[in-house]
Amino acid sequence: EQRNPAQPEFHQAVHEVLESLAPVLAAHPRYAEAGLIERLCEPERQVMFRVPWQDDHGRVQVNRGFRVEFNSALGPYKGGLRFHSSVNLGVIKFLGFEQIFKNALTGLGIGGGKGGSDFDPHGRSDAEVMRFCQSFMTELYRHIGEHTDVPAGDIGVGGREIGYLFGQYRRITNRWEAGVLTGKGQGWGGSLIRPEATGYGNVLFAGAMLNERGEDFEGQTVVVSGSGNVAIHTIEKLRALGANPVTCSDSSGYVVDEKGIDVELLKQVKEVERGRVDTYAERRGASARFVPGGSVWDVPADVALPSATQNELDENAAAALIRNGVKAVSEGANMPTTPPAVHLFQQAGVAFGPGKAANAGGVAVSALEMAQNHARTSWSARRVEDELTHIMNDIHATCHETAERYGSPGDYVTGANIAGFERVADAMLAQGVI
Ligand code: NDP
Repeated sequence: EQRNPAQPEFHQAVHEVLESLAPVLAAHPRYAEAGLIERLCEPERQVMFRVPWQDDHGRVQVNRGFRVEFNSALGPYKGGLRFHSSVNLGVIKFLGFEQIFKNALTGLGIGGGKGGSDFDPHGRSDAEVMRFCQSFMTELYRHIGEHTDVPAGDIGVGGREIGYLFGQYRRITNRWEAGVLTGKGQGWGGSLIRPEATGYGNVLFAGAMLNERGEDFEGQTVVVSGSGNVAIHTIEKLRALGANPVTCSDSSGYVVDEKGIDVELLKQVKEVERGRVDTYAERRGASARFVPGGSVWDVPADVALPSATQNELDENAAAALIRNGVKAVSEGANMPTTPPAVHLFQQAGVAFGPGKAANAGGVAVSALEMAQNHARTSWSARRVEDELTHIMNDIHATCHETAERYGSPGDYVTGANIAGFERVADAMLAQGVI
């Protein structure tokens, strides 16, 4: 903490991983002898830069850009870009650190990185977003490349932003290098099922946890937070499996819809009109109501899938979910559950899927997008979804098996941290002190 002051999210993410690693370090002293923990906690490279741009009134705005290239032992740095007013170096470092282990769990040969800006796209025109993205890429392009570092989307960065970023990269470098960014549009290098992959993947992971208990999603009531890319596709997959997702939310409040969230209406409001969830409730009619502020976790449910942002589910929320009989919680977002809330779930016997395992479907399909780009081909939606299903089941099995091997059966947090660590640590050991 002295070495990295004022980075609480980064400290939280590191503590959570290191807590799990004690039995591995005790069993295999070679990791500690090689200084692996110290090396893992220090990013290989961190870039911070000025992003000046002009708004629609001709005023000059200045934001800050970040790219943290954390670890490339397993492959090129890979991880999204986040545009949100809360972004700072500590937030990007926490996300980049998590990404190392998540990417290792996919088994796909990708290192860990993350980037973004404190730019807030809410209420900005398309032209402003484009000028911002062009300015951001005018610095970022020197640090990325298909064999070096491959960014993707995250909060505030979807298909529109990836398009503007790719256009500027192509213009500056004079190269049509599809593999430099993932989450691209259909028809110019994007993979089918990439937009859906994180949400679908989390539902697959949660489904595998339910199967362990002899259950599935059919007929289960589910609370979902957020209303962005991850939440929308989580809700879509839940409906396809016969579950009843009854909520969605944004930073203004949440919606409860007794009939289950209507995915087409939610997509229209959020993706086409770029509106808010209260508009969804207004249009949906009697079954739905909007609750300003408040906690979506007060809504009774069998399963909870937090899909908005970090630390959105604290111990009060966890206690409310447990009181209402929740059986499984699986993280679509990165680190949405605070450490005390995770402990409460584990004590209560609730199956808990940590984000670095449960939401790895997005980055996994990004790696499949890179593979398609490299081969200059594109796969059918069916093929990509089959691969995604296979990868998520594999991640679930790996976490489950690793937790058992280290004496913590059913503890997916321990399983994910140790399994991810072993893959990265072994590669680092083999590659020497670098
Ligand atoms: P989007 O920008 O598409 O959506 C984010 C959603 O979360 C919005 O509904 C937003 O509401 C809400 N939200 C964001 N910040 C806050 C906040 N501080 N307080 C309350 N609500 C907030 O992002 P994604 O759906 O892509 O990402 C959601 C989460 O999933 C993030 O944690 C991200 O890191 C994680 N993730 C995403 C992946 C992907 O493939 N996109 C892959 C793996 C993880 P509002 O509009 O009001 O801000």
